[in-house]
Amino acid sequence: MNTIHRPPPEHPALDARDAGLLAAVARGQARLTPEQGLDLLRGAPLHELGRYADARCRDIHGDTHRTYVIDRNINYTNICTAKCIFCAFKRVKEDHDSYTLEYEELYEKIGELSAIGGTQILMQGGMNSELSLDWYLNLLAGIKERFPHIHVHAFSPPEMIEFVNFFDPPGADLIQKTRWVLARLKDAGMDSLPGGGGEIFAPAVRSKIGMGKCTAEAWLQTMYAAHSLGMFTSATMMFGHIEGYADRVHHMRLVREWQDKAIRDFGTGQVPPDVAGDPSIKKQETGGHYTAFISWPFQPDNTALGRLPEWPKEGDLGRYGDAFPGDAVSKLDGSGTKDLHPEFGRRLRYAGATDYLRTQATSRLFMDNIYSIGSSWVTMGPHVGQVGLYYGANDMGSVMMEENVVSSAGTTYCLDEAVLCRLIRDAGFTPAQRNNVYDVLTVHDGPDAPDRRVADWSDHRAQKLQAQADHSGIEGEAQAELTIGRSD
Ligand code: SF4
Repeated sequence: MNTIHRPPPEHPALDARDAGLLAAVARGQARLTPEQGLDLLRGAPLHELGRYADARCRDIHGDTHRTYVIDRNINYTNICTAKCIFCAFKRVKEDHDSYTLEYEELYEKIGELSAIGGTQILMQGGMNSELSLDWYLNLLAGIKERFPHIHVHAFSPPEMIEFVNFFDPPGADLIQKTRWVLARLKDAGMDSLPGGGGEIFAPAVRSKIGMGKCTAEAWLQTMYAAHSLGMFTSATMMFGHIEGYADRVHHMRLVREWQDKAIRDFGTGQVPPDVAGDPSIKKQETGGHYTAFISWPFQPDNTALGRLPEWPKEGDLGRYGDAFPGDAVSKLDGSGTKDLHPEFGRRLRYAGATDYLRTQATSRLFMDNIYSIGSSWVTMGPHVGQVGLYYGANDMGSVMMEENVVSSAGTTYCLDEAVLCRLIRDAGFTPAQRNNVYDVLTVHDGPDAPDRRVADWSDHRAQKLQAQADHSGIEGEAQAELTIGRSD
């Protein structure tokens, strides 16, 4: 089980780059203020930032192991009522390629995962108003009946909010209504709630990119409701689009504050009085909280957002000065409004590898109450993902058998367990398979490690590409070219 700690003191009078402050943050003895976090994100020398983030990571996770999980990302439906302009995955029911998987298809996918030693499914979908609560309950019960050993990490706050809208559960407020739905899903077999749909919390950004998606407040309240039921959740952030740097820190700040609240309210194992008084909800150990934070840059292909011009477009600088519109609008308290810059929401600022590493390192230092920081090789590629292990990340995420959402937006990196283990080992750590709550299941320090069983990496790569081509139904050569181009 992971460990977390209570908030250390802030030192707002100190400069963000004060070596004493950063050393104390790395030991978990000081907390960065939002202003200090923003200063580090924008201005700290990259490798210095990485060095302190790495020190913080080693303080929590030690020097030896870095982890991964074997799971399968199952997107049960792509039909969705929302209109997020960064999304290349959603369809409306009338589209020729809309789908909702049958139960048997889902079970088959989980069976394949189980056969390779997988421990978890990440099951998310669009917000599909045609699916009833019973459809979800029967699905979860069917999964648990067939695969009791598989952890079901399922849905996301936007889906939960739509469940509340679709199913009209009892309750005086959003937290109670969400908890009613969550309690039933949990009883049926849902184990934890992933942090999808976080995007950027600041209202000015969120209202531009996530039409029809829940507000930040609703997202955070949903997670709080899950925590009140003793569930573990993760948090995410998608950056590198129209947002400013202060928006990223504001986003981290909200997760940190709600994590403090979860630890304060549920970290003692006490059942909250309002849950205890609800006979429909089974009493249980509480202690739910965020276990992990994963951030990644926006993937533009096939999205409406990706068609916006990059900043600066010709003539922008002369007309508007050199401040990126998102930075002109963003505020550390989330209060920025679109009228602060005429081109806000009309220009993009992509995040490359350096910006990604800066953001991940800042998240490790700033979010002192989050146990795991994940490196996003899925969007950044295996080698930046590997470097991320020296910029605060302790976890390489998932060996993905399947991924549909990011790949719809043009990113098709694909790694198997042997490659993931090799990346971790080549970075100087021992790879270790973990479960959903970051307990280590297997430490791969012997000759039987997945990467050490590979005698010929060229042959291994060729076999993997052929398997992918067979699976996708695309001619092997064409698929191999596509994958080679994307994965190196
Ligand atoms: S990101 Fe999710 S909620 Fe938004 S349109 Fe896509 S599937 Fe729907």
